[in-house]
Amino acid sequence: MRGALPLFRFRGIQLLVHWTFLLLPGYVVLMGYSEGTPWHDLLVEVGFVLLVFLCVVLHEFGHALTAQHYGVGTKNITLLPIGGVASLERMPEDPRQEFWITVAGPLVNLVIAGIAFALISISGITLLLSEGFQDLTSWNSVLTFLFLANLSLFLFNLLPAFPMDGGRILRSLLSMRLPRERATRIATTVGRVFAVGFMAFGLLRGQPFLAIIGFFIFMAAGAEAKAVRQRYQIRSVRVRERMRTGPISMAPWATVQDAWNAMTMVDHRILLVMDNGVLAGIHHREALRQLLMDKGGTTPIGRGEAPLISVSAEDPAFDLYQRMLQEGFPAAVVVDAGRVIGTIEKRDLENAFGPVAHGPTLPVPSGYAG
Ligand SMILES: [Zn+2]
Repeated sequence: MRGALPLFRFRGIQLLVHWTFLLLPGYVVLMGYSEGTPWHDLLVEVGFVLLVFLCVVLHEFGHALTAQHYGVGTKNITLLPIGGVASLERMPEDPRQEFWITVAGPLVNLVIAGIAFALISISGITLLLSEGFQDLTSWNSVLTFLFLANLSLFLFNLLPAFPMDGGRILRSLLSMRLPRERATRIATTVGRVFAVGFMAFGLLRGQPFLAIIGFFIFMAAGAEAKAVRQRYQIRSVRVRERMRTGPISMAPWATVQDAWNAMTMVDHRILLVMDNGVLAGIHHREALRQLLMDKGGTTPIGRGEAPLISVSAEDPAFDLYQRMLQEGFPAAVVVDAGRVIGTIEKRDLENAFGPVAHGPTLPVPSGYAG
């Protein structure tokens, strides 16, 4: 996503913050300032907003780490002012896996709420349900806030408003019985009904964030339905339609510098090493760059790595994409009757088949706007 700053990486999953996220504390400060709220209270409010988003981040990692358990990578987690989005490399076709990946997020919030509640019970402090949250330095208000915020995160995200978590859970439950496309259609319709409800409620009750979220869900539900439809249509796409013809090939004794020059002239990421007309190996651009830095330009390229995946031009492109993700290969060689006729790279398939945005995880609007 453009305009997103990297924050940190955990288990290979990058957390990004989109610049528009800064609008949120900005909005809180501006609203408070115009109402004459003292600076100290404003900072406390901003602190609580950030605390909610910390819980959203943990929620997203719940999705991402469960996905990792099923061998599904996460490109990144992005924080937006409306919530967090985990961008999964693909959504498992197995509805049970989709179910668990999705449920894991809200469960994180339920666990945090449970811990906060346990601490409140042990320490014998009273829940400040009605008095609001005045102080970030008081355990009482922080714990009460964490309890309520996470309970709301749990409940709100379980609403069956596709593509929120509840909608995905509904879809995965439906697809255990129905074809996935039909299950998505039903979940999308339910999601749109909720979205219209959010918009109406938000506008009538003067909760602009809820109305914005409703609008967002409405649009996202449509986009998801379209993506699933397209994904079914492109199932019929063959490797031939996406492959790169005219691969770059060189002999093992060609120099690293020549190979590097040839690769940077065109936008290919793999180079074929041909020995007397036979494919001897391949070089990835990254490996070639490393070789150039370590050994210098005059070194021969050698035979490179063994050709990793070779496919036929008539193979389904979708299957190849799944295989590349599962086995971690960035490219494949397309072979016809023992002859290399082209190459295909993961990014050539990414536009069509993935990644899938999981989420957004929506913080409860009143948590920071009311
Ligand atoms: Zn979620």
